[in-house]
Amino acid sequence: MRDLVKLVCTECGEENYHTNKNKKTTPERLEMKKYCPRERKYTIHREKK
Ligand SMILES: [Zn+2]
Repeated sequence: MRDLVKLVCTECGEENYHTNKNKKTTPERLEMKKYCPRERKYTIHREKK
């Protein structure tokens, strides 16, 4: 089972990305550095339920 998760900028709260993840193989929260178009810089984006 793969689920769609939102990646939210930890600095401004914008939902910038959607991704799929397998909850069985990746039970922990995703966290990755991605470009935030609102702030025009790279920030940490975290999975949101
Ligand atoms: Zn941001």
